[in-house]
Amino acid sequence: MPKNTVDEVYKVFRQKFIQAYKNPEIQILDKVFEAASTAHAPQTRASGDPYILHPLAVAEILLNLKLDQNSIFTAILHDTIEDTYLTYEAIEKIAGTEVANLVDGVTKLTRIEYQPEHIKQAENFRKLLLAISEDIRVLLVKLADRLHNMRTLHHIQSVDKRLRIAHETIEIYSPLAERIGIYKFKNELQDLAFAFLHPEVKKSIISRLAFLRKQGKSLVETIEKEITATMQEAKIHSDVKGREKTACSIWKKMERKNVPFEQLSDIMAFRIIVDNIADCYHALGIIHSKYHMIPGEFKDYISTPKVNGYQSLHTVVMGPEKRCIEIQIRTHEMHEVAELGVAAHWSYKQNVTSHHKQGKQFRWIRELLNILENTSSPEEFLENTKLEMYYDQVFCFTPKGELIALPRAATPVDFAFAVHTNIGLRCIGAKVNSRIVPLKTQLENGDQVEILCAKHPMPSPTWEKFVVTGKAKACLRKYIRNQQREEYFNLGKALLNKAFKAHQKKFHESVLESLKEKLQQETTQDIVVLIGEGLLDTKEIIKLVYPEDTTTDKKKKNPLAFLTRFRKKKKDSGQNSLPIKGLIPGMAVHFAGCCHPLPGDQIVGIVSTGKGVAIHTVECDSLESFASQPEKWLDISWEGASNELYTGRIKAVVLNDKGTLAAIGNATLTMQANISNFKIVHRSIDFYETIIDVEVKGIGQLNNIIAALRSLDCVHTAERVKS
Ligand code: MN
Repeated sequence: MPKNTVDEVYKVFRQKFIQAYKNPEIQILDKVFEAASTAHAPQTRASGDPYILHPLAVAEILLNLKLDQNSIFTAILHDTIEDTYLTYEAIEKIAGTEVANLVDGVTKLTRIEYQPEHIKQAENFRKLLLAISEDIRVLLVKLADRLHNMRTLHHIQSVDKRLRIAHETIEIYSPLAERIGIYKFKNELQDLAFAFLHPEVKKSIISRLAFLRKQGKSLVETIEKEITATMQEAKIHSDVKGREKTACSIWKKMERKNVPFEQLSDIMAFRIIVDNIADCYHALGIIHSKYHMIPGEFKDYISTPKVNGYQSLHTVVMGPEKRCIEIQIRTHEMHEVAELGVAAHWSYKQNVTSHHKQGKQFRWIRELLNILENTSSPEEFLENTKLEMYYDQVFCFTPKGELIALPRAATPVDFAFAVHTNIGLRCIGAKVNSRIVPLKTQLENGDQVEILCAKHPMPSPTWEKFVVTGKAKACLRKYIRNQQREEYFNLGKALLNKAFKAHQKKFHESVLESLKEKLQQETTQDIVVLIGEGLLDTKEIIKLVYPEDTTTDKKKKNPLAFLTRFRKKKKDSGQNSLPIKGLIPGMAVHFAGCCHPLPGDQIVGIVSTGKGVAIHTVECDSLESFASQPEKWLDISWEGASNELYTGRIKAVVLNDKGTLAAIGNATLTMQANISNFKIVHRSIDFYETIIDVEVKGIGQLNNIIAALRSLDCVHTAERVKS
């Protein structure tokens, strides 16, 4: 098509634009058109037309909906960011930030690729599109874009592509248009798609309709006249319109009611539009008294509007000429809402409210969301808890393109559990849009998430702090509870072995069998776990198993002597100690804050009631207070400890001078350690007394750091804090 045709089309459009608005921003329109047509100049549509005719047609569809001017500018620019050199910044310069944001929004929608797998999850996909369209106008532009693409779909050569687009339209976009109440879009999208998807069905329905018409059985005009006359008689001011139903809606009804065409009676529909609600019911009364009403087909959407705001009276009667006809009765206002849905509200509000754009937009989205929220079927409502609905949701893809709906603030861990419990438990890392991210990253709409899995489950208890889905929380808790129980069981067994050994006996779980009832526990394992948890004393068990043996309590031991003996024994040999292996820090064991044990230190576990085991260094002063309860002591070795970093604490007296801090920092850095905390505990004129916490792998590294600190001129003394 030559250039002057484009100019012709634009000239007509421009004129229409000027007439549509009170204050048409014609300079902006010209600039926008100039930029878009230049950018699209090298491109043509499948039809061979210059590309710019497409965005212009989309803009015209929206102009007919009386949308605001920025929507029109957005429509003209809607394909530029995706397909041309124009950038967000360039658009911002030409048409302002709002338009740039809108075009950006449409681009985001376009980039979400629809895949055949999504058919199964069409509902989720529609929600995703809604969630991404932060401004309802983005969605309206996208729907108009789709409408024009469907109108020109026959130009596309590839049959596969045509079918894919038609399929997508009928599954995603037409229901979306219905959701936001734009029946005008919905019907046309549906009919166009239907023609491509079921050409044979369409042909046969149309030929049957034609056959009926030839037989004089399609009587739209006659019946229209008769109803009009009836309304006039009743002195109801009305506008009556009749039509044959579209092939698509006839087909849908055949499918829904599972009947052949011949048995389908109401292939004609009539609409009576009246001035007010009272007239609606008046007209209905007249129709029902004149014609026989088909029971079960009457619906009052005026007193109970559809959730998308649709209002009308629907009835089916045995009409003139003994034909079944569908009749819809509504007011002019209801009609506009039915045709234009959200867009009707939009143009209406445009005219009555002043220019508080932000607030208005915001209210708009809220209103739409209210509509959508209430549209959920009861099943869907049950499926999602209140928190997990709509705007509170994010929609993410698996690498295979499957859609996963999650509540807002969900993380890759939630995603993993949503895919499968087993994936959640084995999750060790995640890629979002091919980039490795921390597991607590909050996911965003449209993110593609890939979960990296370990061979065996190894969830971290810390995940519980950031996961948001009920499933992830429950699974984690269950797993950790089981894991913890296992650990407590092992600890309990070690404690029992030790206690029995002290009595020159060998422990077997079977000896607990007789104690179940007395201790009110169901299994012997439960008893062992209680001991591991510190909720039950081994002393009591010994007493119960060997009531006659009272040797333990006979001679009162000197507690401090016990402590000394323990320390000495530990120095001589670390044998028989329980390996730390498998004990997950923060769960059953924790490192005491007083002495900060490090790998390489000789350590002892102190069983504390209900808190598991606290690990101290054998040198720790606080051990004195446990010396009178040797049954709480647990000989533990570092064997199998994880390769994590541990906190070592150093007390240093340093010079109050420039560069001291830097020197300390440097010294730790050369030893490849990180300072996790630095505190000045006492200040004098010349010296500061400080506490330095460093993250180290073990005692060796800590000693190196201390040595490095001592070698500094600015460090007076440095020593490890042991209690
Ligand atoms: Mn387009």
